[in-house]
Amino acid sequence: MNHLSRRILGLSASETLAMSARSAELTAQGIDVINLSVGEPDFYTPAHIKLAAKAAIDANFSFYSPVPGFLELRQAICQKLKGENQLDFSPSQIVVSGGAKQSVCNLLMSVVGKGDEVIIPAPFWVSYPEMVKIAEAQPVFVSAGIEQDFKIAPEQLAAAITPKTRAIILCSPSNPTGSVYTRQELAALAQALEKHPNIVILSDEIYEHINYAGKHQSIAQFDSLRERTVVINGVSKCYAMTGWRIGWIAAPKWIADACCKLQGQYTSGACSIAQKAAQAAYQGDQSCVREMQQAFERRRNLVTGLASKIDGLKVNRPQGAFYIFPECKYFIGKSSDGTKISNASDLAMYLLDHAHVACVAGDAFGAPGHIRMSYATSDAKLTEAFARIKTALEKLI
Ligand code: PMP
Ligand code: GLU
Repeated sequence: MNHLSRRILGLSASETLAMSARSAELTAQGIDVINLSVGEPDFYTPAHIKLAAKAAIDANFSFYSPVPGFLELRQAICQKLKGENQLDFSPSQIVVSGGAKQSVCNLLMSVVGKGDEVIIPAPFWVSYPEMVKIAEAQPVFVSAGIEQDFKIAPEQLAAAITPKTRAIILCSPSNPTGSVYTRQELAALAQALEKHPNIVILSDEIYEHINYAGKHQSIAQFDSLRERTVVINGVSKCYAMTGWRIGWIAAPKWIADACCKLQGQYTSGACSIAQKAAQAAYQGDQSCVREMQQAFERRRNLVTGLASKIDGLKVNRPQGAFYIFPECKYFIGKSSDGTKISNASDLAMYLLDHAHVACVAGDAFGAPGHIRMSYATSDAKLTEAFARIKTALEKLI
């Protein structure tokens, strides 16, 4: 007998987390695996943030927090949005959740449902289409290949909009491609969206500070879309706090209220101690953010150099996040010692088994023929990983 719901039967498991778990299993068996699969900073959370969490425990922040988050944290987020992004929000427009992942899911559950379409530029982060499916809406993909730096053009967006379109999810800097939209490119997308007042714009800016292109640009800066644009962000990536689980939205009040209502029935306020740590992150010294950003930029330069020396991998030069997303179609159809590579998933498995390097196949990101490699690890491990990848790929004939 199978009692599982249609909702869960139709859902794919997270491929990024699955690949990382596989890599951890092999490591536990004593195999020296270099994990380039999961996207999380390898740095420790900065000391002043950890101290704030310890102080919060001692000060007995052990009770339920308000559903949208502590007022002090929401005020700190508003100050961040004003100071860094020149965006005016009030604390009543902020909802803090258990990670930006929950924020995206809250939003989709709040604004879309059966019969609605959600535009997702591809390549996309693995969880977006699955979350759209949880909300019973239909994902509509708009693809942008490496030749257009993985960024969609306004004409492509305009062509994908139908009377059923209720939302679009933008992600810049992007997971999995590292592409960053310029202000001009965002302005052109905004212009295409201006004509469709029923579309809510979800702007996932979780990689805001891992950006080598200069000042971060948000589509929320365009006044014409202000009443229906939601900024999604959090502390996971820029403050190396993935395990603390704090993300948030800054939204028009009607959307913030809806997400708050949903969260009030679903999970309640996010972890009180982690919220106090996040507040310290936003209010404390920001030099840790710059230092980590500089390390990621150095590693971007290192890995794009190493990957471009591997015959058959086609790489661009990402301007943000901590991923490269090379095209690997050259290897499809090749074999080594009886192992045939029929698609990017086979290639990811081959690299795990033969090079002991974990990567994620592009299929789960809506880009078959690509492979995602995270460079959020040490220079030494990256150098070793690419040497192993090169040797393994050279054996494919
Ligand atoms: N958006 C994107 C594009 C991501 O890569 C991630 C990473 N997991 C998230 C949202 C969610 O981040 P978190 O839940 O850790 O805040
Ligand atoms: N966002 C990260 C990644 O893409 C973390 C894993 C996840 O939540 O998908 O690898």
